[in-house]
Amino acid sequence: MDDDERTPRRDATDRPTWNRDTRDAGRTRRRFIWLTGTAAMAGLAGCSGGGGGATETTATTTQSSGSTGGVPEAYATATSLDGTQRNPDSLSSQEAVSYQDEPSDGRQCSTCRYYIEDKNGDGVGACAIVAGEIAPEGYCVSYVEYEG
Ligand code: SF4
Repeated sequence: MDDDERTPRRDATDRPTWNRDTRDAGRTRRRFIWLTGTAAMAGLAGCSGGGGGATETTATTTQSSGSTGGVPEAYATATSLDGTQRNPDSLSSQEAVSYQDEPSDGRQCSTCRYYIEDKNGDGVGACAIVAGEIAPEGYCVSYVEYEG
């Protein structure tokens, strides 16, 4: 028996096991981290799609109660005291302008440049920039005195 048979040679595949195990564990850990990160990014992309935020913002600043903006047809595109034409697709909600049914410091809708006077005899008008029916005694923060 010669020395080669009594003393096994060490070659590239016979390295200490801790070295190979450590390297394999590192690869597995890196792959796990990569997969986890990829899944998280896919989840985030799914949450941010669709542009829902922009739609909600628009909904809070305008009011679209049907095609007339919450008033009888006769007011839908009528003009106000100063000649501003009402656009039913571009109106502030009453909440957005803090509309109230009573005057404020002597200011009221019937003296506002944006007021659209009663057209059907019910005593209620409309507004060129605010949605819904508007009382002549009403008031909102967008008030501008009509000086015509
Ligand atoms: S006070 Fe406001 S709601 Fe009234 S007519 Fe003027 S802008 Fe419209």
